[in-house]
Amino acid sequence: MTLKVAIVGRPNVGKSTLFNRLVGRRVALVDDTPGVTRDRREGDGHLGDLDFTIIDTAGLEDVTDNSLEARMRRQTEAAIRDADITLFVIDARVGLTETDRFFAALVRRSDKPILLLANKAEGKAGADGLMESYELGLGEPIAISAEHGEGMADLYQFLRPLWIAKRAEEGIVEPSEDDLDFDSDVEGDETDEEAAYRANKPIQMAIVGRPNAGKSTMINALLGEERLLTGPEAGITRDSISVPFEFKGRKLKLVDTAGMRRKRGVTAKLEKLSVGETLRSIRFAEIVVLVLDGTLGLEKQDLTLASLVVQEGRGLVIAINKWDAVKNKDEMMQDIKDRLQISLPQVKGLPIITTSGLANRNLNTLLDAALALHAKWGFRVSTSKVNRWLGDAIETHSPPMVSGRRLKIRYATQIKQRPPTIALFTTRPDELPESYMRYLINSFRDTFGLEGVPVRVVLRKGD
Ligand code: GDP
Ligand code: GDP
Repeated sequence: MTLKVAIVGRPNVGKSTLFNRLVGRRVALVDDTPGVTRDRREGDGHLGDLDFTIIDTAGLEDVTDNSLEARMRRQTEAAIRDADITLFVIDARVGLTETDRFFAALVRRSDKPILLLANKAEGKAGADGLMESYELGLGEPIAISAEHGEGMADLYQFLRPLWIAKRAEEGIVEPSEDDLDFDSDVEGDETDEEAAYRANKPIQMAIVGRPNAGKSTMINALLGEERLLTGPEAGITRDSISVPFEFKGRKLKLVDTAGMRRKRGVTAKLEKLSVGETLRSIRFAEIVVLVLDGTLGLEKQDLTLASLVVQEGRGLVIAINKWDAVKNKDEMMQDIKDRLQISLPQVKGLPIITTSGLANRNLNTLLDAALALHAKWGFRVSTSKVNRWLGDAIETHSPPMVSGRRLKIRYATQIKQRPPTIALFTTRPDELPESYMRYLINSFRDTFGLEGVPVRVVLRKGD
C-alpha cells in the first residue's frame, strides 16, 4: 500500500488541476462550472521521487441542496478516513467562503495530518486569502499554484516524511539514518540560505490581553509614541493590520493588534474583551505576548486567552505588566507562576517577564524572550533523532497495558514545524491514554529544550 493522499475542498478551488498536476495526465475534467468534478477518482501521483495514491473527492457543492450536501459530506469523510493525509484546498484569490469554513470544520475532526493549500497564488496573488486562511484553524497554509506548478517544493517537504514512514511501515525499506532525516541537513546546521531567509522574514507578533492591561502603552513604548498615534503615515492608518519594526537587527511585525485601531475614538474603559477579535490576532501571529495587569494578578479571562494561544499552537510569552505598581512582587510572581503551571501544563517552562510599559522597563527582555521562543517554535529534528528519543522514552517508562495487551509505539517522525508536530505510529491509536501522551510530550520537550513550545503529537495507526 502506498501513501494515500486525499484532495478536498469546495468546487472550483482547483482540486482537479492539482490532481492532474500530480498524476501527470489529463484524466480529470477541468471546468469553470462549479461541480463538474463529481465523482471520487483515484490516480497514481508523483512528486519528485515520491509516489503515492491520490484521491480526488467530489467537488463540495454549495450547501443549498441538502441531499447533495449530505452525499458530498459522506464522500469527503470517506476519503479522509481512507487517506494518510488530507490536502484541504482553498482559493486564495476568492478568500474564505462559508462552504470552506463548513468543510474545514469537518476536516479538523480528523486526527490525521491535514495540509492547508491556498491555491491560485501564483506570483504574489492571493496574499489576503492566504492570511485569511489561518482562520480555518488548520495551521499554516502553503501557497501554491496548481496551474503553474508553484509551491510544489513545499508540498514535497511535507509529504516526504510521511512517504518514508509509510514505506517503513510496509517494510519496504529498513529506514536508514540518511533516509529518515526530516530534511537532509541536521538541525542546528542550517545553510546560509536558510539563515538568510529566516533573518529576513519578519516575526509576526501579537500583543493581547484584557482591556486596561496596558497593551497600548506597551505598544507605544515598543514603537515610539508618534509612530503609533499620529497621522496616517506609512502603514499605520486606521485600517492597518500590521506594524513593522526592528529589534537587534531582527525584523518583527505587530499583527492585527485588536484595539489598536479602535483606540482612537473609544476610551479604554468602555472596551470589552472581545475573544473573537483576539482569536483573529492570535491566528495571524507566530508569537503572542499576553499582557497581564500585575496589580490585579492572573484572572480567568487571562487563562482563557492563554489557552487559546496554546490551542492555536502559537508561541506564548507572558508579560506581567505594571510591575512598577505591584506591591507584593514575590508573592504575585509565585502565584501567577503556580497558576499558569497548573492550568497550562502543555507549555511547561513558558517565558514570564515582568514589564512596565509606562516606565519603559524590561521591554527589551520581553523581545529577547519572544525571539528565543520563536527560534524554538520553528524547531526541526531529523527522524533518526526523534526515534532515538522515542526509544529512550519508552525504555524509561513503557507504554501502558490496555485490555490486557501492551500498546506498541513503533515509530515517530516530525511532520510539521511551527509548532513542532510529531506523528507517532502506534498499534492502537484510539487507546493510547492521555496521561502517556502527556508523558511523551513532556519528555520530548525536555530532551530537545523546547520549554514553552506547544509541541503537538498526532497519533497514527501503524502495525
Ligand atoms: P475543482 O472544482 O476544485 O476541481 O477546480 P478545477 O481544478 O476544475 O479548477 C477550477 C478553475 O480554477 C479552472 O478554471 C482552473 O483553470 C482554475 N485554476 C486551477 N488552479 C489554478 C491556479 O493555480 N491558478 C489560477 N489562476 N487558476 C487556477
Ligand atoms: P489597554 O487597554 O490594554 O491598551 O491599556 P492602556 O495601555 O490603555 O493602559 C490602561 C491604563 O493602565 C492606563 O491608565 C495606563 O496609563 C496604565 N498603564 C499602562 N501600562 C502601565 C504600567 O506599566 N504601569 C502602570 N503603573 N500603569 C500602566
